[in-house]
Amino acid sequence: MEHPTPHIAIVPTPGMGHLIPLIEFARRLVLHHNFSVTFLIPTDGSPVTPQKSVLKALPASINYVFLPPVAFDDLPEDVRIETRISLSMTRSVPALRDSLRTLNQSTRLVALVVDLFGTDAFDVANEFGIPPYIFFPTTAMVLSLIFHVPELDQKFSCEYRDLPEPVKFPGCVPVQGRDLIDPLQDRKNEAYKWVVHHAKRYKTAPGIIVNSFMDLEPGAFKALKESEPDYPPVYPVGPLTRSGSTNGGDGSECLTWLDHQPSESVLFVSFGSGGTLSQEQITELALGLEMSGQRFLWVVKSPHETAANASFFSAQTIKDPFDFLPKGFLDRTQGLGLVVSSWAPQVQVLSHGSTGGFLTHCGWNSTLETIVQGVPIIAWPLFAEQRMNATLLADDLKAAFTLNNNSGLVSHEEIAKTVKSLIEGEEGKRLRNKIKDLKDAATKALSQDGSSTRSLAEVAQIWQNIKD
Ligand code: UDP
Repeated sequence: MEHPTPHIAIVPTPGMGHLIPLIEFARRLVLHHNFSVTFLIPTDGSPVTPQKSVLKALPASINYVFLPPVAFDDLPEDVRIETRISLSMTRSVPALRDSLRTLNQSTRLVALVVDLFGTDAFDVANEFGIPPYIFFPTTAMVLSLIFHVPELDQKFSCEYRDLPEPVKFPGCVPVQGRDLIDPLQDRKNEAYKWVVHHAKRYKTAPGIIVNSFMDLEPGAFKALKESEPDYPPVYPVGPLTRSGSTNGGDGSECLTWLDHQPSESVLFVSFGSGGTLSQEQITELALGLEMSGQRFLWVVKSPHETAANASFFSAQTIKDPFDFLPKGFLDRTQGLGLVVSSWAPQVQVLSHGSTGGFLTHCGWNSTLETIVQGVPIIAWPLFAEQRMNATLLADDLKAAFTLNNNSGLVSHEEIAKTVKSLIEGEEGKRLRNKIKDLKDAATKALSQDGSSTRSLAEVAQIWQNIKD
């Protein structure tokens, strides 16, 4: 008798940046390896419209179910995002158990895949005898940090930002303590404890799938694969970036405008789905773009009062962001710049021939998208692991400019100088050549016999053999 199609359950924790690469991962499992997939999605009552718009466009063999919303009424107002994300998983465990039971009865369920904050689902998977894998949506360098977190936690008692020397993970460039991932920056906060909690469980996963590629981080991957015998197998499968069809929202205005600009002349400015700046910083950025005299396409969001990831859960800005631009800015830059509110079709913008640079918050999806399109970077990290991504891009790969940030504010002069140098200068040319090399390496990794294609095939083979 022929075996039924192997089925994978995927549990993304909240945030479009987590869902998007998992969707691309699912798409490949279905198209290239004959799996079927169900997404089981924890929710916290925030609108799920952006998620739905990408999920609806998926092939029939990828299903999705939103788990019942969990309540966060008991959490303090200033609770960190990593705590909320982790709790969204933990509090969804009973509903996840029910869904997994149903799936296990109705399909040949061979694996559960969770993302970086989803390790509390491990126990439920184990109850059903289903191996729980981790999909790690960012770099090998950050994965290496996660493996070292329990040890760092024991070794130091001060805040990491107060360490006199940078921290060094095997095969990676050194990172300043202050640039380690956000939730590690306050040891007394619950979010810190959550990271330690997840980190300790990582080693119990039978495998970790990473959205990066061998040639981007050869040292880090080599060290993860070879130097520690008790690490689980690590599979670099990236760059998995969203395909154009799953973009969400209408962005025709941006693309029509780009059609009328010279080749590689426009700086695209965007801080991801959730990144926001302070009012003061928005003003400096506007004045800097204007002073640079370069063309720009800026996705502007209303300023935040408290945290740089203020719109992470909603991806939409609430007030009209144009109200926060300096007086007369739009008139003075008319013709040179286009400012759009909240959202632009980023993948199409980056792949447009008129785009010549990307000022980005270095979210990992944005970083991979710009590498895939060969667009050079100005790194403006804001939160999460973005400062580590900026370190990788600037110090290791030499594919990005960084910005001097004196007492927390990047000045308009600094912005103007850097933008000009990227679009017009000799250094900018060097960066452009470097990122084109990375683009070629990314294409090769995903080619028929490329390292990421082989790595994905290896995991697929393991899963196909389960319950065979
Ligand atoms: N994105 C987009 N348009 C926007 C802002 C973001 O299409 O105006 C997409 C972007 O292409 C990427 C994702 O949203 O796929 C952002 O993910 P990333 O990891 O870069 O940052 P996050 O939003 O998680 O901070």
